[in-house]
Amino acid sequence: MGGKKMLVNLQEIMKFAEEKEIAIGAFNTPCFESLCAVIEMAEYKKIPVIIEHAEVHFPCGPLDQIGPAMVDFARRAKVPVCVHLDHGTSMRVLEQAVELGFTSVMFDGSALSYGENKKQTKKAVEYVHQHGVSLEAELGCMATAGSRQGNYTDPALAVDFVSETGIDALAIAFGTAHGIYPQAPVLNFDIINQVKKAADLPLVMHGGSGVDDKDYVKAIKQGIRKINYYSYMGAGAYQKALEYGREHPENSRLFQELSKVAVDTMKGYLDHIMDVFYRLK
Ligand SMILES: [Zn+2]
Repeated sequence: MGGKKMLVNLQEIMKFAEEKEIAIGAFNTPCFESLCAVIEMAEYKKIPVIIEHAEVHFPCGPLDQIGPAMVDFARRAKVPVCVHLDHGTSMRVLEQAVELGFTSVMFDGSALSYGENKKQTKKAVEYVHQHGVSLEAELGCMATAGSRQGNYTDPALAVDFVSETGIDALAIAFGTAHGIYPQAPVLNFDIINQVKKAADLPLVMHGGSGVDDKDYVKAIKQGIRKINYYSYMGAGAYQKALEYGREHPENSRLFQELSKVAVDTMKGYLDHIMDVFYRLK
C-alpha cells in the first residue's frame, strides 16, 4: 500500500489487513489532540490507519468541525488513512459523513429487530456504495461495560445478514464491551471463528481497549481485521492532564500545555498497541 492516494476506504484498507493477517487500528478522534496523536504515530510506524468519529461523541466534537479536519489530515498523511463514521444510527448522519468526504461509515442497527436492522443496513449500503464509501454493520449487540448487557452474534444469522445486505465489514459481539471494564472481559473466540467460516468478510472488534494483549493476538488469528480502540487511551490522557494541572496550578499557565500532555500520553498508548495490532514486534 502507498502511493499518492492516502485517503482510502474501508474495503481497500481491509484488503491490506487480510493479506497481512493483521488488524488495522481504528481510533476515535473526537478532538484535535487525538487526531494529531493517531496520525503522527501511524506515520512514525509507517502503517495504514483508521480514524473514526462516533455519533455519541458529537456533543464534544461536532461532526461539522472535527469531520473536515479528519478528512484534511487523511489527505495530507504519509500513510493510507480511512476516515470512518463510528456507530451512525440514522441515514441523516450517514449522509452528512459522506458529504464531508468520509470514506467509510458504520450503520449501527443493533438496537433494532433483526429484520429491521437488515432492511435499514441494506438501504444504507446502497446509498454509500454509490459514493465509493464502505459500510460496516453490527449484528448481535455489544454490551456497555458495567451496564447494558450484550448478546453474542449468531453465526447462522450472520450468513443471511451479510449476503442480503452486501456490507463490507461486520462488527460482532463476542464478549467485549464499550467503555472501561469493571472486570477483565471473557472472550468467546469460537464466535469469531464460526462467523469467519460462515460469512467470509473482515470482522470488527469493538470495545477494543482494555483487552489483554494475548487476547488481541488470538482474536486477530481468528479473523478480526479492525479493532476499535479508544476508551482507555482517552481516560489515560484525561488523568495525565489532571495530574499535570494539579502540579502546575500557577495562573500564568496556558491551556495548550494540557493539550500537549494529552497528545504525548495518547501517543504512548498508540506506540504499544499498534505494535500488537499490526504484529510489528
Ligand atoms: Zn463500538
